[in-house]
Amino acid sequence: MSTAQKPTMEFKSSLDIAKIREDFPVLKREVNGHPLVYLDNAATTQKPQAVIDALDNYYSQYNSNVHRGIHRLSQEATDAYEAAREKVRLFLGARDIKEVIFTRGVTEGINLVAFSFGEKFVSEGDEILITEMEHHSNIVPWQLMCERKGATLQVVPINERGELRMDKLEEMLTERTKLLSVVHVSNALGSVNPIGEIVEMAHAKGAKVLVDGAQAAPHLPIDVQALDCDFYAISSHKVFGPTGIGALYGKRELLEEMPPYQGGGDMIELVSFERTTWNELPYKFEAGTPNIADGIAFGAALDYFRKLDSKALVDYENELLTYATESISDLPGIRFIGTAENKASVLGFVVDGIHAHDLGAILDMEGVAVRVGHHCAQPVMRHFEIPGSVRASFAFYNSREDVDRFSAALHKAVEIHKGDDVAKDRDIFDTSAETIQETQQRIVDKFSSYDNWEERYQAIIDLGQQLPPVPEEVKQEKFIVRGCQSTVYLKAEMEGDRVMFKAGSNAMIVNGLIAILLQVYSNRTTDEVVNTPPEFIQKLGLSENLTQGRANGLAAMIEQIKLYAYALKMTRQSGR
Ligand code: PLP
Repeated sequence: MSTAQKPTMEFKSSLDIAKIREDFPVLKREVNGHPLVYLDNAATTQKPQAVIDALDNYYSQYNSNVHRGIHRLSQEATDAYEAAREKVRLFLGARDIKEVIFTRGVTEGINLVAFSFGEKFVSEGDEILITEMEHHSNIVPWQLMCERKGATLQVVPINERGELRMDKLEEMLTERTKLLSVVHVSNALGSVNPIGEIVEMAHAKGAKVLVDGAQAAPHLPIDVQALDCDFYAISSHKVFGPTGIGALYGKRELLEEMPPYQGGGDMIELVSFERTTWNELPYKFEAGTPNIADGIAFGAALDYFRKLDSKALVDYENELLTYATESISDLPGIRFIGTAENKASVLGFVVDGIHAHDLGAILDMEGVAVRVGHHCAQPVMRHFEIPGSVRASFAFYNSREDVDRFSAALHKAVEIHKGDDVAKDRDIFDTSAETIQETQQRIVDKFSSYDNWEERYQAIIDLGQQLPPVPEEVKQEKFIVRGCQSTVYLKAEMEGDRVMFKAGSNAMIVNGLIAILLQVYSNRTTDEVVNTPPEFIQKLGLSENLTQGRANGLAAMIEQIKLYAYALKMTRQSGR
């Protein structure tokens, strides 16, 4: 049995992590009977009490609209909101507060530039450059803009470590390149791009540069003036602030020339039916009532973050990453996705033969939150020829114990999926000696003998391991069951008077569920399939622990099984 061995590595950091953790109320909660280990920080970070208080204080003390009010509350709200803008300016190192536009987040910041810069500066035949490691939000807005303007989107490749190919970037930057949009820190790989160098290269060709700083903001000090980038986008929720707010930095002279992104209140100076003039920066780009409370709390998050020693944070997070990497590198079949020389605290990996969703589900069972899937970076997954990966992403409030718990849970997950001791001596799918009700009862009895979810889960995985691989002819788009989290193929055909199902998925837990369904419904008459309700499923004790996504998938599979049987029955009856 492979159990987690703790590396002997010494942490040099002097940060008082236990004290820092006290500031984050959610870290005290339990998940599935275990203290929470939150390692999904690249998706969103947790919020310190100071941020929660800022929200509460705004709504309970001075909730009102900003900029237009003459009354006291409105002035207080305006002051607090504009003070938050100043905090963002400081955080980004921008020269002028007019260069800081509040947005909903990085996605909106990029869309704003793609639209507005595109309208003004991009024409047919121009090129926009992005990279292979971009988040979808730094791909799709450019595709839309290129389509609108007749420009071409070019993609700079990455190497096998997940680093940007700087040689290719040099080649691909030409006089036609209007703008390069590049991520500072990749959310799927952790790779840190040398933005200063990249900006210099782009500017030498006359191209402007937008930096997606979503993942850099919580990990690296940012100085937009030193980087000399033209635009820099961040999201508050990645830096310990609320969701729904972020900021876009843009060089003033560019922003002045760009047309508004959206029209409405606040972004105007004078409106008549003949002609409207725009408000000054940054309001020209902020149509409508802004997200006041979250803007103020974003400022509170930056206040909190700034009080910590940023160099110590970076060093500590690097230690966590090294320790975590060492802790799990002994796992059989592990492959790290993203091994850049310069890397932030994102640990991506796959384990040979085990679907990322299966690993994520067991980690969740142990109270460990990680992200599994494509991380909104499908081209990165395609590059590494994987459907998805597991990603553990660290923040400064994560402790060495968090990593130990993560590693132990992961070792356990791999152990559960090994399948060495699965009894394969009996063909469980040969149910010809049982009626459909007897098969259901046998499965219910079996599951009743398990004491807890862990035993039931192991049983499902064991069943999944006995499911024969899906035949190639079934792996077709038309046999995909809609509504499942993982890809599920299901095909039905008649053999004599029996309907036979062939099915399978890329996730082992789903294969286990399929194995249960096939024992009951395959090799039966169409009438038996159509007329036997799936109530037995309720008695298996799965509903509490199966995620909503999995439960929906299970329901979709049952529905499809019944639909197939009904269709085959009708076809028979009509003699076709
Ligand atoms: N870019 C990167 C690298 C990200 O990680 C994310 C979010 O995960 C985004 C952009 C999008 O950020 P948001 O959803 O906050 O707009």
